[in-house]
Amino acid sequence: VTGTNETAPKETTRGEHTQEESEDQTFEQLGLDARLVRALQKKGIEKPTPIQHVAIPLILEGKDVVARAKTGSGKTLAYLLPLLQKLFTSNGDRKKLAPNVFVLVPSRELCQQIYVEVKSLLELCRVQLKVVQLNSNMLATDLQAALVGPPDILISTPACVAKCLSNSILDTASINGSLETLVLDEADLLLSYGYENDIKALTPHIPRSCQCLLMSATSSADVDKLKKLILHNPFILTLPEVGN
Ligand code: ADP
Ligand code: MG
Repeated sequence: VTGTNETAPKETTRGEHTQEESEDQTFEQLGLDARLVRALQKKGIEKPTPIQHVAIPLILEGKDVVARAKTGSGKTLAYLLPLLQKLFTSNGDRKKLAPNVFVLVPSRELCQQIYVEVKSLLELCRVQLKVVQLNSNMLATDLQAALVGPPDILISTPACVAKCLSNSILDTASINGSLETLVLDEADLLLSYGYENDIKALTPHIPRSCQCLLMSATSSADVDKLKKLILHNPFILTLPEVGN
């Protein structure tokens, strides 16, 4: 795994680890909460994958991260684990005018997969957070109902979020006051699936303090475009195709 932070060269070493280190470190040593570590053990997951090894500590520190690693390398947990930990530890002092976390993905199927993964982790951790997934078949009234008493985590396609914005089901000032983490998963597909304008409807309302995470299987001009649109000074983590 190589890591670079384009405008903060001093910190680049944080993203650089040897294979040996990556094989030795446990989730606990990466700074993960004991509840999450136990939940992973119950799922039979004992050892971080290389992308998790590098991404988890950076995300826990609040850094913006672009992570590129091939399909199947464990990118979902690489962002879910640290963002859940952040929510576990900040429960009391969060503003809840709008969702605290947006996870935006290119398809309804992926929304469902991530939703199931989050719910299963929360159940194993015995932590109650409100998690909502939206899909484009939902009527405005259903969208409205799903977002009453704002969720901690909203999982959606960009199109649904844009629909909620244009119907004032999601209030832009509330997003600006509450959004703490934005994840774009399968970012390499978002633009080719036609979500550019939907994403652009949201970007002006993302607060400067929001942590932004961009996960993708490939690097492409599209990923670069999204990176420029959303992220401030991110750490760029890249897993080489060969040798992992
Ligand atoms: P990606 O998003 O990079 O394509 P996923 O996050 O979907 O990959 O993970 C692929 C599979 O690997 C999933 O079934 C997931 O549960 C499993 N997985 C994730 N992290 C680990 C790990 N540290 N050890 C073993 N299996 C893992
Ligand atoms: Mg994935």
